[in-house]
Amino acid sequence: MEITGGCLCRQVRFRITAKPMAMRLCWCRLCQYLAAGNATVNVVFPSSSITIEGQLTDYRSIAESGNVMHRRFCPKCGTPLFSAAESRPHLIIVRNGALDDTALITPDATIWTTQAPEWAWIDEALPQHAGQPPPVA
Ligand SMILES: [Zn+2]
Ligand SMILES: [Zn+2]
Repeated sequence: MEITGGCLCRQVRFRITAKPMAMRLCWCRLCQYLAAGNATVNVVFPSSSITIEGQLTDYRSIAESGNVMHRRFCPKCGTPLFSAAESRPHLIIVRNGALDDTALITPDATIWTTQAPEWAWIDEALPQHAGQPPPVA
């Protein structure tokens, strides 16, 4: 199994050698900044399975839960690529738009629905979490 991806300007490229563990749509307020006002589309992989080439900028922030989060993006074109929590170093979250195949899997759940604007389209067929769901593994 090899999944590939990168940023818009192709300065950053990555390879993943494991299957995706989950895909979630996140409406938290921070994600709305990253996704132009919509939910982010996030695919979870084991962090040991990824090889990254190119330069990234790391934006560090502290979540409401107290988790220290690292969000990495391309400093040249600004494409959001990865997110990771210091409390869960074995997982890496890849922004679905950075995958070469954006139809690799379909979403499992919508999270942080309480922070979504009223007009947000949320798929009623998917499980919803008002805030942060339990970790995938
Ligand atoms: Zn780039
Ligand atoms: Zn979020």
